[in-house]
Amino acid sequence: MSIFKRKRYKAVIRNLEILKQSTTDQLRFRKHENRVMRSIKKLVKRFRHDRWQNVPDGMWIKCIKCQGVIYNKQLGDHKICPNCNISFRITAREMIGLIADIDSFKERDEHLVSNDPIQFPGYVQKVSALADTLDIKEAVVTGRCSIHGIDTMLGVMDSNFIMGSMGSVVGEKLTKAFEEATKNRLPIIVFTASGGARMQEGIVSLMQMAKVSGAVKRHSDEGLLYVTVLTDPTTGGVTASYAMLGDIILAEPGALVGFAGRRVIEQTIKQKLPEDFQSAEFVLKNGFIDKIVPRDKMRDTLGQLLKLHDNGPEPHIHKNTDFRYFTDCCDTEPSKVVEISRKKTRPTSKDIISYMLTDFIELHGDRNFRDDGAVIGGVGYLNGKPITVVATQKGRDLQENLATNFGQPHPEGYRKALRLMKQAEKFGRPILALINTSGAYPAATAEERGQGEAIARNLFNMSGLKVPVISVIIGEGGSGGALALALADKVYMFEYSIYSILSPEGFASILWKNAERAKEAAAVMKLRPKDLLELQIIEGIIPEAEGGFDNDMSYSLDYLKQLLTHEYNVLLQKTTGGLLDERYARFRKFGAY
Ligand SMILES: [Zn+2]
Repeated sequence: MSIFKRKRYKAVIRNLEILKQSTTDQLRFRKHENRVMRSIKKLVKRFRHDRWQNVPDGMWIKCIKCQGVIYNKQLGDHKICPNCNISFRITAREMIGLIADIDSFKERDEHLVSNDPIQFPGYVQKVSALADTLDIKEAVVTGRCSIHGIDTMLGVMDSNFIMGSMGSVVGEKLTKAFEEATKNRLPIIVFTASGGARMQEGIVSLMQMAKVSGAVKRHSDEGLLYVTVLTDPTTGGVTASYAMLGDIILAEPGALVGFAGRRVIEQTIKQKLPEDFQSAEFVLKNGFIDKIVPRDKMRDTLGQLLKLHDNGPEPHIHKNTDFRYFTDCCDTEPSKVVEISRKKTRPTSKDIISYMLTDFIELHGDRNFRDDGAVIGGVGYLNGKPITVVATQKGRDLQENLATNFGQPHPEGYRKALRLMKQAEKFGRPILALINTSGAYPAATAEERGQGEAIARNLFNMSGLKVPVISVIIGEGGSGGALALALADKVYMFEYSIYSILSPEGFASILWKNAERAKEAAAVMKLRPKDLLELQIIEGIIPEAEGGFDNDMSYSLDYLKQLLTHEYNVLLQKTTGGLLDERYARFRKFGAY
């Protein structure tokens, strides 16, 4: 039981004692009865406050989320409710025990304590009482350890210590951890759990947000990896500083994540907020975190991420010297190619990724507005070397199509792709863009959020990406919505795919005011790979089985895998200046005059 609860509990007992002594005097009894009720209410509130409280020692406990009664041992080491999978709050030391390799954790600045910067009454006593009760002296534990054998700095916050609030010591310990990581070129992982700023340290607490953020920036500028793991609760000043600055942001399921408190917001807008408001799921949907990871998968996921970013001094992909380009492209009638390119049975970007890449981790969100299902992205290995993939994703049935908006991205989809491409650039990873879209989504909401701006921003930034970029059109390559992912060093197309200024239907309706003449339009638009190769719009063609690559996926994808391996190898040998000059020249040459 926490000392706060113990205090409230003692107050209840004390008031009951007084009540017992006043049974003869009715007036006195009433007065004390009220006092008992008040103290009980306070105790109940304290229990509610610890929504997913640390697991008490008793055998049976009640899950605050699903109300299920659970035998203590059922929670296991990871303290996960077997009914609703919510993670109970655990201490920093328990978390380190679950995450770090055994006996690898070497703590830093263990004895640092606050010296009460604004002389707040009772603060020193409170801190020292907590330090006596708990096995930590402040709300964060920092140190160096290994995870899956990879050396990393680790910081874990503990909400038992004044709600994990961020006083000078929390700020100082984290800043020092970042500085050590920067100096030794190490990645850093921070588990957040915090109510926000520490009121007892006033403005000095606020300054910790700026101090830690500055240290994060210096670490990032060195091209080093920072992963945040948001646990329950992550709010206030911690959310508004280092929690949201990770290259990759993970969260535990159901964790409370937000800036302002729910009650403050409800009072301000005078409305009741939805149940899932400010949950990990809520911020994932709104594009602010990459992934929700259950606690029992967290160690492996972190190990996988560390390994993906631990590619050593040799970024090259295996050499494949005897590669032979496919040249024997079919001469199928254009309208037939259009038809096959749109076939519902064609493998999607997700199918291609899972066939070609190993250990792929999908990352979500534009960190701005929403996670767009029409654009997917993430990191995985191609022939043992990490690459970043961004892709437009179509669905096969109605449900998938609703989730992916029929492969038509909103601006936030393009912004998510750009975020992941910039991340690839930071870590020196080659980029693969898979394209299958009839175009950017034409809608009022897309216009409000700047569809044109989002596409333009991608073209601007892709022209300067310091890592190799290869784009592959796997189905439809429609208009600016496709080009937004195709300003690349090399552009390839599948044999039955199309790439055009807009759809043949749109073309016919603009030029001839008759969408029915789409077949005629297809014939004159030069949208087939064969025609585009002649126009030097693309570098080459991926062969497909007769009738489309859904008939023989491995035939096409084994070729693509070899092709990419070969091309990245060639591109990675160029200097950055050379790579960028060639990319500029590749698009500079287009035009007829
Ligand atoms: Zn539960």
